[in-house]
Amino acid sequence: MTYAEVIGDPIAHSTSPLIHGFWLERLGIDADYRATHVAPDGLAAHIAARRADPDWRGCNVTVPHKVAVLDHVPDPGGVRGSIGASNTVFRGEDGGLVATNTDAAGFLAPLADLDLAGQPVAVVGAGGAARAVLFALEKAGVGRVTLLNRTPLKAAGLLATFGLKGDAVPLDAPLPPAALVVNASSLGMAGQPPLDLDLGALPEDAVVYDIVYAPLETPLLAAARARGLETVDGLEMLIGQAALAFELFFGAAPPRDADEELRERLLSC
Ligand code: NAP
Repeated sequence: MTYAEVIGDPIAHSTSPLIHGFWLERLGIDADYRATHVAPDGLAAHIAARRADPDWRGCNVTVPHKVAVLDHVPDPGGVRGSIGASNTVFRGEDGGLVATNTDAAGFLAPLADLDLAGQPVAVVGAGGAARAVLFALEKAGVGRVTLLNRTPLKAAGLLATFGLKGDAVPLDAPLPPAALVVNASSLGMAGQPPLDLDLGALPEDAVVYDIVYAPLETPLLAAARARGLETVDGLEMLIGQAALAFELFFGAAPPRDADEELRERLLSC
């Protein structure tokens, strides 16, 4: 039976088997999607073994392999030099392995109706997820970016990396009247302090997007809703990046009309 998987260390917490399994079942595709524990010193051997297995359609890649996997799999799209990490390995048309990253497109998908060209945006965070977000925002042609981070120096480096105009500022800097505010930091995640932003300067049609999905209702989203602003939660990106990977693995578009049921399953797991 053909199969795909998610690899990481640890891996038991991954929601990918639930998401891909749900879509496989819905589409009646006779294939499997599993979670496989791969320790850092086993990555090279794992990729070599899977490369030789014709039933293997590819894998999602999570911590701590997202950068290291690029030492073993080519990335013709240049993700190493841009986002700097890969979350998906699939078989190209010639059967060879290709590393890519679906986080950026997965992040942008729920914003498809928003014209971000030239618009001021604010982003919190300068870690791995922020790299995918900034890459996506640069592709969307945004205007000035206010990048807030605990370590502003790191944020300044990221603005330069992605050729974005804007300011790298500390977390307590005031927000500009941005069209979009994104939390791409760990703040608000279970076990982390909340992200406390003053949303007062945002216009009425601003969108607040928190990519944290555990918990789903973060203090930031609650504050945005209390102000009547449109919000996007972290499951949108999680499902969006998985959808793109699913298509690369199994050659079929997932049934996105079943997203509500999928979200319920994710929330109850
Ligand atoms: P990361 O690489 O470790 O980066 C963490 C970021 O949060 C950095 O900017 C860090 O600031 C900041 N931070 C961490 N703890 C902090 C604290 N106590 N006070 C202030 N700032 C703090 O993590 P990541 O991979 O980017 O992930 C960030 C979040 O995105 C996580 O909640 C993750 O679950 C979520 N995420 C969601 C999706 C999705 O599909 N929805 C995908 C990927 C990630 P410094 O730079 O100063 O260290």
